[in-house]
Amino acid sequence: MKAIVFEQNGGCEVLRYTDAPEPKAGPNDVVLKVKASACNFNDIWARRGLPGMKIILPHISGSDAAGVVVEIGSEVKNVKVGDEVVVHCGISCRECYYCTRGEEFFCHDFKIWGFQTGPLDGAHAEYCRVPAANVLAKPVNLSFEEAATVPLVLVTVWRMLVSRAHVQAGDFVLVWGAAGGLGVMAIQVAKLFNARVIAVASSDDKLELCEKLGADFVLHRKKHDIFQEVRRITNGRRADIVFEHTGADTWPISMQCLKWGGTIVTCGATSGFAAQTDIRLLWNKQQNYLGSHLGNKGELIEAMRFVEGGQIKPVVGEILPLHEMARAQHMMETNAIGGKIAIVPPSA
Ligand code: NDP
Repeated sequence: MKAIVFEQNGGCEVLRYTDAPEPKAGPNDVVLKVKASACNFNDIWARRGLPGMKIILPHISGSDAAGVVVEIGSEVKNVKVGDEVVVHCGISCRECYYCTRGEEFFCHDFKIWGFQTGPLDGAHAEYCRVPAANVLAKPVNLSFEEAATVPLVLVTVWRMLVSRAHVQAGDFVLVWGAAGGLGVMAIQVAKLFNARVIAVASSDDKLELCEKLGADFVLHRKKHDIFQEVRRITNGRRADIVFEHTGADTWPISMQCLKWGGTIVTCGATSGFAAQTDIRLLWNKQQNYLGSHLGNKGELIEAMRFVEGGQIKPVVGEILPLHEMARAQHMMETNAIGGKIAIVPPSA
């Protein structure tokens, strides 16, 4: 099969469009014919290499797929050949103390499929293998390209805003990177709860997209003083929730923008991990700083109901053929894309 494989860490030039062996289903796995996959930032972290995290090389990235089941393992009962499915990318043992409490992301065996699993099992290929427990029905109202772009970012955002930060009607929610993969979902999930969204992005086109998705206020991070604008918009009170994933560059501003008793929830650090924290704000303002990582399958199923009902929509900014993966990752690394990039393999 054709796949995007890299054998060493580095820039986009290490990505090779090449032949790779077709996966075979283990007893509890299914094999999917990939109709579309989606680019996520973890593809880029895997390609660059992250200190302290082992990526098994050669590697096929890709943690989101929409496809058709073409093979099932001998023990599989929940899926049949021909089913149209998407993937929940959290892999865990499903037996331990944490897994049985619905806290699969704390499992000692927790891995993100296509990111830390390996060596060749991600979605950026014509076929992929995934544990049967990790697939769920593709929403019938979505194309494969649309469906592929939803699960990873949606489950992450649902956990961040709903399960962790308990977003409420009327909350001011400051969303960084609001036209990015997570951001477009954050706007929609916050609006679902009747919160007031302050969306931040770096171009007029992206701000227009944020407004279309329901953002109440839009700020250009290269033109506006974000802190002053948040103070103005909130009548001095500041944001109830700051939706963080941008890291070192934005973290000190996020702390400033947060109201007394407010909550920053973070799942990432695109601009750097070593952020400066003035801990006086933490205690004086009695702020809450929450970490969040992916989400469990139950959270994804809950969130997908709103996709099936049309209240949360996929935002596909670009559809590219599999062989243009380097271009896709470059677009993400240069913040040149609004919404998600869907990838289509040649035989889809
Ligand atoms: P995208 O590339 O789709 O979007 C990121 C957005 O961040 C860009 O659109 C850009 O918006 C903004 N951005 C980038 N650099 C800066 C900066 N220096 N200052 C302010 N804004 C910036 O990525 P995703 O939304 O998919 O992912 C974002 C991060 O979240 C990644 O680091 C990813 O690894 C992490 N993540 C973590 C998950 C978890 O479970 N732990 C799950 C999913 C993602 P603009 O230029 O318009 O402001």
